[in-house]
Parts: sequence; C-alpha cells; structure tokens
Amino acid sequence: MPDVAFINGTFVPLAEAKVSIEDRGFQFGDGVYEVIRTYNGRPFALEAHLARLDRSAKALDLTQPYSSVVWTDHVLEGIRRAAYPEAKIYIQVTRGVAPRDHAYSAEATPTVVMTVREFHPLDKSIQAAGVEAMTVEDIRWGRCDIKSVNLLANVLARQQVKQARVFEAILVRAGLVTEGAVSNVMVVHGGAVATAPEGPRILSGVTRAVVLNLALSEGVPVQERFVSRSDLYAADEVILTGTTVEVLAVVRVDGKVIGNGRPGPIAQRLAASLRNRVD
Ligand code: PLP
Repeated sequence: MPDVAFINGTFVPLAEAKVSIEDRGFQFGDGVYEVIRTYNGRPFALEAHLARLDRSAKALDLTQPYSSVVWTDHVLEGIRRAAYPEAKIYIQVTRGVAPRDHAYSAEATPTVVMTVREFHPLDKSIQAAGVEAMTVEDIRWGRCDIKSVNLLANVLARQQVKQARVFEAILVRAGLVTEGAVSNVMVVHGGAVATAPEGPRILSGVTRAVVLNLALSEGVPVQERFVSRSDLYAADEVILTGTTVEVLAVVRVDGKVIGNGRPGPIAQRLAASLRNRVD
C-alpha cells in the first residue's frame, strides 16, 4: 500500500514531495498542523480537527488556503488513495516560501502538505496494563493552544521519555500539571475527573473534549482545573487522552504507583465508551 503525500493541491508519491529550503516552516517553524486518525476507514472527529487547524492558523495570522469543506475532500481522497485499513493523516500549513526574514509579508502563499500513512493502534496488552509516565518541566511558550509545528520543548520531553523507557511526559509548570507532551492528562480523585482548563497552557485536545462529554453523559463529574504534582501522585487514577493514545491509563508516575497499579474503573469506563462511540 502506498504512503500518500499531497503538496499544494496535488497528490504525489511521498518520495517526490519536496518543499523549498526557504520555506518558513523549515526556517522558523512558522506553521500549524493536525493529526487525524481513521477508525474503520473513516476519519475521526474530522470537523473538530479542521476547526482547530483554522483556529491555529488564525492565531498566527496565517491565511489558510482551504476551507474545511475543501480540506474534507482532500482528506477523504488521501484516505481513499492510501487504502490502508487504518490511516494517520498529517496536515501541515506553513507561511510559505520567502527570503529569510523573521517578519513576514501578508502576501506570502502558504505551503500545504498532507501525508496519509498506515496507523498502528496501541497494542491491546498495553491498553490493558496501563503505562508509566514521568513528569517533565513544561518549558513551552505561552500559546500552547496553537498547534504550531514549533515543537522543540515537546521534542526534548519525548527524548527524555525515550531515554527513561516510559510512555509519556506529564508536563508540569509552576508545580501544576498542564498536559502530556503528546496527550492531555486527566486525574481522577474521589470519582471526579479533573483536567487542566482550556486556555494558553494546553492544547484543546479533540479527544479531551470527546472524553469529557462521555464522562458527563455517564454521570462522572468533570472539573476543569489545574492539579498539583502532589495531587497527581495521590490520584486514584491518571488518564491520558489523544488521537493516537485514545484513553490510556497511567499506572505509575515518576516511579510512584497510581491507585492499585492497574487501570482504574473510570479509565476503563471511558475507554469502553470511546470504543463504542467510534464503532
Ligand atoms: N496535547 C498535545 C501537546 C498534543 O500534541 C496532543 C496531540 O498530539 C494532544 C494534547 C491531544 O490532542 P488530540 O486529542 O486532539 O489528538
């Protein structure tokens, strides 16, 4: 099956998709992106992802060349061409090619890139056992709500994760949990789910929103508030949410056992609800 690439309106084989060294995405990380996955060949929450792409672009004064309707056609066509049983769609829009200068011209033509590759969901045994995480100082900039391709702090955090042989970095700023390096974090205390509020400190996860709604519809109280590192350690359950991790229980943080060291009842319920929803 082919990995599919799409560049500035044209589908090409991945190896032929090239952008200029003067692209501002390459020079400055001046661009935004989205990652979408399919379930049973259909993109999950595509509208929400495209709406966030639009919000991210607008926040950077970057003119998106395609409406959500046009994007939807391109995404569906990419999925059709790749023909993978499950696919991961990566979209990136940069401010385009220009002689290197930090300031930009309003006339710059954005560069638009999409790839469609095979998606390998997390192993069922990992879902069932839960994962280990470590806390990492959140050194990101003040607009984490923008899904920008500037991911240096996340890159460094994920490298620490790799070296420590754990699953995810839980980012902590001034003693408070913000989110994961590639996921949102939910903390369960006394039957209620607490998670950092939307705003400049976190990415408004598409999965986060879906899972919070599922929790509410099941009568699980939801609190959008920051949780301290010590509350994280003392939690009954810690849960990661995200496009690639879905709902994933964390059973150990910084070597400390969470709850009884196994995925708890709320994580299991929310994971099952999400599964029902996507099926
Ligand atoms: N937070 C960060 C920093 C992320 O990079 C991601 C996804 O990549 C998420 C949260 C989860 O967002 P979503 O559920 O939209 O995939």
